Amino acid sequence: MLVRFWGVRGSLPSPLSTPQVEAKIVDALLGAGGVDLTDRAAVEAYVRSLPLRVRGTYGGNTPCVEVRTAANDLLIFDAGSGIRSLGSALMQTEFGRGQGLAHLFFSHYHWDHLQGFPFFAPAFIPGNRFIVWSVDGRAEDILTRQQEEPTFPVPFAGMGATFEFHSLAPQTAMCDGRVRVTYALLDHPGTAYGYRVEADGTTFVYATDAEYKKIDEEFLAAYGDFFRDADLLLFDAQYSFAESQLDKRDWGHSSAAIGVEIAAHAGVKRLVLFHHDPRTTDDELLGILDSAQQYAALVPGGAACDILLAYEGLEVAL
Ligand SMILES: [Zn+2]
Ligand SMILES: [Zn+2]
Repeated sequence: MLVRFWGVRGSLPSPLSTPQVEAKIVDALLGAGGVDLTDRAAVEAYVRSLPLRVRGTYGGNTPCVEVRTAANDLLIFDAGSGIRSLGSALMQTEFGRGQGLAHLFFSHYHWDHLQGFPFFAPAFIPGNRFIVWSVDGRAEDILTRQQEEPTFPVPFAGMGATFEFHSLAPQTAMCDGRVRVTYALLDHPGTAYGYRVEADGTTFVYATDAEYKKIDEEFLAAYGDFFRDADLLLFDAQYSFAESQLDKRDWGHSSAAIGVEIAAHAGVKRLVLFHHDPRTTDDELLGILDSAQQYAALVPGGAACDILLAYEGLEVAL
């Protein structure tokens, strides 16, 4: 299984500001001593050698994650603004010829997980087929409502591709049995669902937009095997631990520290911190990662878990 990240930011698309870009340019130039700045190839090689926080950004698009199986089955999780870029990439494939098939899942219908859909080019191409899976049966109604006048000029029903809406059972096999999906109800305002995807002998858990008020054996037992032994756990780490427990309690989001606790408890191999807060800068994200890694070293079982920051363009092969 291959997992690709197209949108990793929570709440609202959050492009870099000019002062933030300027600060990155300053950092790059301060490190450029010895580089021949008149030689384009040398400059390009230097830029490629820089860390992501200097040469780019972790990303400002809202959630969209692509999952590919070894048989090239395509599963898409959430349609935040990141799905526009995924759509552009897919248009270079069979989706550009109206021959694509994808399975689409929504964690929930808050706008940051839905707002990119009207800009998803393959949805406008007749012949493409999208199977939309949901637990609550509301996806068709909500996609339709998002594109009603006056908020978007093209109605959902006029998008061109074929959409099939299916209900997820507690365990659902799809893609001719190559993929098995289970779900968990997450604690989030208005509810959200997490998805556990098993394919190719590996497991990916998509669990964004969730709050975990106390982590004890009884609480974790309520999730059963949902997180158990995942090869990759995508986790809502929007807030600091203090925010998640104090002034942003009941806002429906979690922290890297809670992710470490759950990952260590469940034997997760890799934890990816996701749904970054719009306020959090690239440098601050690195601080969150560093703290999470230090904390993992102290938690029983935590040292065995690899911790990553989600960024646009990240690919994780399981
Ligand atoms: Zn969200
Ligand atoms: Zn939400």
